Amino acid sequence: MKLSNYFLPVLKELPKEAEIISHTLMLRSGMCQQASSGIYSWLPLGKKVLDNIEKITKEEMNLSGAIEILMPTIQSADIWKESGRYDDYGKEMLRITDRNKRELLFGPTNEELVTDIFRTNVKSYRELPMNLYHTQWKFRDELRPRFGVMRGREFLMKDAYSFDLDYINSIKSYNKMFIAYLKLFKKMGLKALPMKADTGPIGGDLSHEFIIISNTGESNVYFDEKILGLEKNIENIDYSSDLQKIIDKYTSCYAATDEKHDEKNFNGKKDNLIKTKGIEVGHIFHFGQKYSKPMNANVTRDDGVSVPVFMGSYGVGVSRLVGAIIESSHDEKGIIWPKQVAPFLFNLINLKVGDEKCDTICDEIYNYFLKNNFDILFDDKDESPGSKLARADLIGMPYQIIIGPKGVKEGVYDIKLRDTQEIKKLNIEQLFNFILNI
Ligand code: ATP
Ligand code: MG
Repeated sequence: MKLSNYFLPVLKELPKEAEIISHTLMLRSGMCQQASSGIYSWLPLGKKVLDNIEKITKEEMNLSGAIEILMPTIQSADIWKESGRYDDYGKEMLRITDRNKRELLFGPTNEELVTDIFRTNVKSYRELPMNLYHTQWKFRDELRPRFGVMRGREFLMKDAYSFDLDYINSIKSYNKMFIAYLKLFKKMGLKALPMKADTGPIGGDLSHEFIIISNTGESNVYFDEKILGLEKNIENIDYSSDLQKIIDKYTSCYAATDEKHDEKNFNGKKDNLIKTKGIEVGHIFHFGQKYSKPMNANVTRDDGVSVPVFMGSYGVGVSRLVGAIIESSHDEKGIIWPKQVAPFLFNLINLKVGDEKCDTICDEIYNYFLKNNFDILFDDKDESPGSKLARADLIGMPYQIIIGPKGVKEGVYDIKLRDTQEIKKLNIEQLFNFILNI
């Protein structure tokens, strides 16, 4: 992609409305724009990151055996009345009336709707276990939308819902999601810690939040340092192995959010306990028959008896993650994208547009990328080298290929690694090899 043909509305000034660094950097690098309070349009660079996060999430859901569907944003109030949550949910729910005076709502979550899909289609224990997920926009009329996409009113969530015949099997499904979440956050270049959590309006008896440590986080968290070192190779864990054993390692370490924190218990333990702030990027719930009972989502057992299914629900904050990743990966110059979610891996920069040799070598490199089906952002704009380099650092692609007259003369080109600032000097052959081996 040539920058001259792209839409990258970078801001020169500091946006006044931003309170935290990720919001500032998202606005400055033209990733998103506020449409109204807590509601954002995603501009090209932001959309690419959002898509990358969604893709990683989907891949891991599929690997865990969950099945993708897509439920609508608008739901009927009727099913929420059946579950008993219509009145309980309060002002966060955006309630809508259609032209026939039917009560609708913009979904803040999907337990009811997925339970309705399940009960109309699944009748026998033979079809279990089942886990259905989708990635869809949610609306919650938050009291204080702030921090840009981190606490929006409209936000993108991946939510999965498990269905099982009994308690024991539903815990197995919960465990699978627990491991899937550890894996998928790691795939995004993040360390998310599972912590004992409150169940809130979703309800249930067992719940964990996945938290990224960050001093701009809204949650107070308390944990034993040991949890940081667990399961260094979580990506290699097979879903068919004994997951309970791995989860026990986590749950035996003290780790709790504010609501579940027990000061006595915390202070009673001498070891390396940490109190800090974190960002909730995922939340999993086990709630048994809370929805299946009132909504009559029953299956027949092998002895012919009909029982309400056991359920759990599992959410990943896809749009919040865009901000959360920036919170945990930036410096004073701008964003440092982890490779796994970067909008482009490479940023090719022509420092002297109009110089025949610089133009030629840049075209050669650019065409090499196209030929190998690599996405690259090519800064071909006729601007000062200083502003081009500053923009490259701001938008934060992992590799910058910097082409200027000096390098062209010597036949060596600079590759700058955005995270360490290290500059490698490579000739054209070495450069092409470097690209192919990423
Ligand atoms: P919070 O405590 O931050 O309000 P929640 O516990 O109400 O979140 P869940 O119902 O657990 O949220 O939703 C699952 C995930 O969706 C959360 O872990 C979070 O990552 C994301 N999420 C929730 N609310 C928002 C929001 N207002 N803006 C962006 N993402 C959100
Ligand atoms: Mg939550």
